Amino acid sequence: MVLQRIAADRHSIGMHGQSHRKLRQLPPCEWQAEILPCQATVSRVRGRQPMWLRAPFGAVSDEQIEWCAARSIRIANWLLGS
Ligand SMILES: [Zn+2]
Repeated sequence: MVLQRIAADRHSIGMHGQSHRKLRQLPPCEWQAEILPCQATVSRVRGRQPMWLRAPFGAVSDEQIEWCAARSIRIANWLLGS
């Protein structure tokens, strides 16, 4: 499995959602269903929870940022012009 090879090479593994949907446009049950299975998969392969979420299209709401922060998940995003 690709994740196991990446982990074996000691790279960080973050999350990007299950189906590349814009999280900010989804109700909580759906955006959480994008994140939680990723978290479970990476946790199982890596042996610890992933620390990073890069939301598809960078589209993440304040509510989602707070939800992630409460679970020690940081948001990886970019700035315009970067
Ligand atoms: Zn993407």
